[in-house]
Amino acid sequence: MSRKPIIAGNWKMNLLQDEAKALFEGIEKFTRDFTAPQLPTIVIAPVFTSLNVVHTIKCNCGCGGDKVAIAAQNCHWENSGAYTGEVSVEMLKDAGCSYIIIGHSERRQYFSETDEMINKKAKAILAGGLIPIICCGETLEQREAGVTDQHIATQIRAALKGLSEEEVAKSVIAYEPIWAIGTGKTCDSKEANRVIAMIRNVVKEVSSEKAGDAIRILYGGSVKPATIEEQMSQSDIDGALVGGASLKADSFNEIIANTMKVRA
Ligand code: PEP
Repeated sequence: MSRKPIIAGNWKMNLLQDEAKALFEGIEKFTRDFTAPQLPTIVIAPVFTSLNVVHTIKCNCGCGGDKVAIAAQNCHWENSGAYTGEVSVEMLKDAGCSYIIIGHSERRQYFSETDEMINKKAKAILAGGLIPIICCGETLEQREAGVTDQHIATQIRAALKGLSEEEVAKSVIAYEPIWAIGTGKTCDSKEANRVIAMIRNVVKEVSSEKAGDAIRILYGGSVKPATIEEQMSQSDIDGALVGGASLKADSFNEIIANTMKVRA
């Protein structure tokens, strides 16, 4: 089964609107030399306040706007109401998003997000016609204690609870070992592939063989232009969720170019 690769940039809480504009333009310009089928699915997740800026470029770039998709970095599961500081799926769709990252380890760690909340968000995102990028991953302590697979399987079972086969198939999972995020330490590609294959088996067990074969599972954790070719050469790694290296057009575009060398 061939799964189209995804290269997603998570800008986290970085870049003012002018900076976001310049970076998005740098990525959009790079994509002009390629047709959409040649490129991986490219997803950019700016802060909420820059969604409109990047969406405006996407709509006015003259290439049909089909080469770079926009993601939000979080959402609430309710449509509207008394939830001060929150943003709903409907609002994010209205702002031009087609993907939403949920369950990032930084949200789990600093904002106490639970597996149950992530499952509610996944359901709301899919009900709203968008695609969740569901993050999972173990801490260094969990890895050293030998409970990596068990911990990740629990996160995945909880996140996908109650989703239909079609909903699971169109979802995206990002395996991000927490000890590799923003640390410069990448997980060995073969080990990342082993964990991702394990995740795929969990998806098959909780949903179906078909959904497990279709779902795209990314690796995240200090991905750089120099690491992506080996990562993308693995059997089960379908792309990357990139933090630091997505904040410069040169390095992000090089990650896209190197991905195309291995998998279109
Ligand atoms: C991330 O933000 O999800 C991430 C993987 O960051 P970095 O690439 O900087 O490790």
